[in-house]
Amino acid sequence: MYSVVGCPDCESVWIVESEPATTTCPRCGTRHRFDGLRKLARADDKLAAREARSMIMADRMAGEEGADPDSFAEMDRDIENRRSRPPSATPTGSPTSRESVVRSAIRTLEPATEPGIVSFAIDHEVPEEAARDILERLVRAGDVTESEGQYRLL
Ligand SMILES: [Zn+2]
Repeated sequence: MYSVVGCPDCESVWIVESEPATTTCPRCGTRHRFDGLRKLARADDKLAAREARSMIMADRMAGEEGADPDSFAEMDRDIENRRSRPPSATPTGSPTSRESVVRSAIRTLEPATEPGIVSFAIDHEVPEEAARDILERLVRAGDVTESEGQYRLL
């Protein structure tokens, strides 16, 4: 977690990693309690934090009301939106978890035939169509071989 904070003394804006007790302004060298600083933006990764910081700087440069709390709230929302995209979590029903259901069907079933894999997939809430598509894609990608109607993971 990174926070973009603003120095109340010199208006400098910098990025702080995690939540330290104190942080020192890189411009005027004043030591601030992290809790007491205004958080202009928060981000999960440094890149997003840098982006947020340059947006804040650009806003100020443009002579906008940089301290307007509403614009900061908007910025926070932008970062929230960006944060919801990364692939850290794999919700059920996503392509990745569907594929892992198909893979475990092939691994588990003996013999792993297409009807068996498809019904295993259906039992695990993967639609029949999707299961067939994934199976076909795995074969095409060379992750799975098919011989005499039996599938095997490579
Ligand atoms: Zn300062």
